[in-house]
Amino acid sequence: MSKQLSAVAAYRGIALAGVRHRKKKKEVVAAGLHHLTAVTADPRANVAFYTRVLGLRLVKRTVNFDDPSAYHLYYGDATGTPGTLLTFFHWPGAARGRVGVGQVAGIQLSAPRGSLEFWAERLRSAGYPAEPRLRFGESLLSTVDPDGMPLEILACREDPRPGWTGTDVPPPHQLRGMAGAEIRVRASGRTRRVLRELLGWREEATEAGRSRWIADAGRPGFWLDLVEDASAESGRPGTGTVHHLALRTADISASETLRARLLAAGAGPSPLIDRTYFQSVYFREPGGILLELATDGPGFLVDETPETLGSGLMLPSAFAPAREAVIAALPSLDS
Ligand code: ZN
Repeated sequence: MSKQLSAVAAYRGIALAGVRHRKKKKEVVAAGLHHLTAVTADPRANVAFYTRVLGLRLVKRTVNFDDPSAYHLYYGDATGTPGTLLTFFHWPGAARGRVGVGQVAGIQLSAPRGSLEFWAERLRSAGYPAEPRLRFGESLLSTVDPDGMPLEILACREDPRPGWTGTDVPPPHQLRGMAGAEIRVRASGRTRRVLRELLGWREEATEAGRSRWIADAGRPGFWLDLVEDASAESGRPGTGTVHHLALRTADISASETLRARLLAAGAGPSPLIDRTYFQSVYFREPGGILLELATDGPGFLVDETPETLGSGLMLPSAFAPAREAVIAALPSLDS
């Protein structure tokens, strides 16, 4: 067993098995960001902000599969392409959370270069802050959503993804999906090893306690900023915080390969779970953050057309007989 692998084996103190297969399967990686799921107290304000202020498409409205009295809302590009997806659980009456260590502490959205003035004006005129900052030599705006969740809009050099055109945001300024996400941990050593050795990511740059990890060529949608902060407060789950971050896998076979690797390293992954629009495996990385591996397919067109995407309430088949009661218990999203 190599030195590096023994270190990962120490993860939760469970012995590593199946090391012999590592070389053969090394090319299977979690290739980029798939979606991010956060918590909102107010689904109506959430829809208004993400569609009307940020100009994203509501690509799916469904319910929490474990609690059909609460929405699960998905925003993204025209078809909900992996890497463009922000999703929200509605937790009615939940307390406000605290963003901190052991959490995804920042969401970075990709905007075209030269569009930050437009976004600063648009955010401020809608009543949201827009603080300019510089990171890794690139400009960004820092703001919050209606639940107080930190969001950043980055002026990205190269992002070939098209924006959603069904919005009043002019094409030169349309957002193109997630650029990256910031994960904040108290000590980063074991998190780094999981990113590198189990998920196949690479460290590309460091700046002021932050290291940028990339998958693939490291374009927007393919990076994570790992921030080590030994003294900050721990995050507390609740509204205005991120619940989990999902990384992409090409297909079920890739997910199963990565799952086997996580299992062998003692990361305790969940079984593969059918989420209708993708297949998921969940695990907690050593810094305490809940991560998911989500397949690129089958995608959001399995139950709606490109034209009608996000317009109807899509219920898993288990809730279909109670459809009227489920709808009656949900708040209206119109404002
Ligand atoms: Zn998820």
